[in-house]
Amino acid sequence: MREYATQMEAARKGIITEELKIVANKELMTAEELIPLVAAGKVVICANKKHKCIDPQGVGSMLKTKINVNLGVSRDCKDYDIEMKKVMEAVNMGAHAIMDLSSHGNTIPFRRKLTAKCPAMIGTVPVYDSVIHYQRDLNTLTAKDFIDVVRLHAEDGVDFVTLHCGITRKTIEQIKTHKRKMNIVSRGGSLVFAWMSMTGEENPFYEYYDEILDICREHDVTISLGDACRPGCLADASDVCQIEELVRLGELTKRAWEKDVQVIVEGPGHMPIDQIAANIKIQQTICNGAPFYVLGPLVTDIAPGYDHITSAIGGAIAASAGVAFLCYVTPAEHLALPNLEDVKQGIMATKIAAHAADIAKGVRGAREIDDRMADARRVFDWEAQWECAIDPETAKKIRADRKPEHEDSCSMCGKFCAIRSMNKALAGEYIDIL
Ligand code: SF4
Repeated sequence: MREYATQMEAARKGIITEELKIVANKELMTAEELIPLVAAGKVVICANKKHKCIDPQGVGSMLKTKINVNLGVSRDCKDYDIEMKKVMEAVNMGAHAIMDLSSHGNTIPFRRKLTAKCPAMIGTVPVYDSVIHYQRDLNTLTAKDFIDVVRLHAEDGVDFVTLHCGITRKTIEQIKTHKRKMNIVSRGGSLVFAWMSMTGEENPFYEYYDEILDICREHDVTISLGDACRPGCLADASDVCQIEELVRLGELTKRAWEKDVQVIVEGPGHMPIDQIAANIKIQQTICNGAPFYVLGPLVTDIAPGYDHITSAIGGAIAASAGVAFLCYVTPAEHLALPNLEDVKQGIMATKIAAHAADIAKGVRGAREIDDRMADARRVFDWEAQWECAIDPETAKKIRADRKPEHEDSCSMCGKFCAIRSMNKALAGEYIDIL
């Protein structure tokens, strides 16, 4: 019998859990260093008691930046086997978390398969699943129906749930008063807004938050407080709607912590580069250091087909300023359900952003691999370079496609290779160019 309900409660009681030991080891920390961070809510260990195959990860701004991959079937792409293949490949490519955003068919077997077979943290958005689960129109669902789906996901072993608790009836007026270009672009947020508009009732995830906390405490489900008003374009960034919701998320964070429930806070969105660091600072202050999880931020609106790049730029800046968790964005963002190649491109771009930020933040152990790569490059040790590379397969393929005449160069400069010339010059050797 566990003497604690959640990882946070264990940490507050001074109990070093197996999961905490594993996370400390991965982060090159001692358990004694990590435990106060979990107790204070600055690090979360998302690990539902029923997710037995989980390889635990810590999420917090002082740890390695973690990355999430959104997957799940839709009405237009409904093959659960293809989606499961993408999940396992995403994990092999380095995803720390998988969010199941399925919006079609019977979602229960797929969700249970995820928590039975996938070692990554599993997240869901119960409000999407509510309409699918009951097969009823949104306006016929009751507050109790929504809460029951949260309970179902918790019982299925989901490690974190995105709940859009921060918008209220006041938000309806704000959206109408403070005209936004893109209104609400959060899928879950738009459903909650639509339900409130049609029924005239308060947001059930806000009104029955205490009941939700009890469910999350019982199963050790981390709440990812969704940002329904995350900006969907640069023009809406840092506006009244976004900041007002963030203030409420700060209040909800405190209420969760009072019941030892772990919390992540979600953030933007689309945002100009010069606003990113200030947004992180505000979130850290208002939410008392709770881990910040951002989708992007996408730093320009005009690059459909390349939004893995626009978001990696924003993600690197955000994570270096203190964001703990990056949601990947693929080249298919705003256009279509990502295929396997899109998933790969999105993961690689996000991994680069996360790693670049970890170096800048001085996260333990982040930098050494770059120094190993530099050493391998200087001596043309190609095998060692592949071992350090984020995507060795792509690197190998490019080199093999355009082979150089000599191994001690590449086909870019050939005998004009600066590295080769310097190695020879410093060794006192003759430098043949022609
Ligand atoms: S040939 Fe040019 S690009 Fe290639 S390794 Fe040498 S310096 Fe770098």
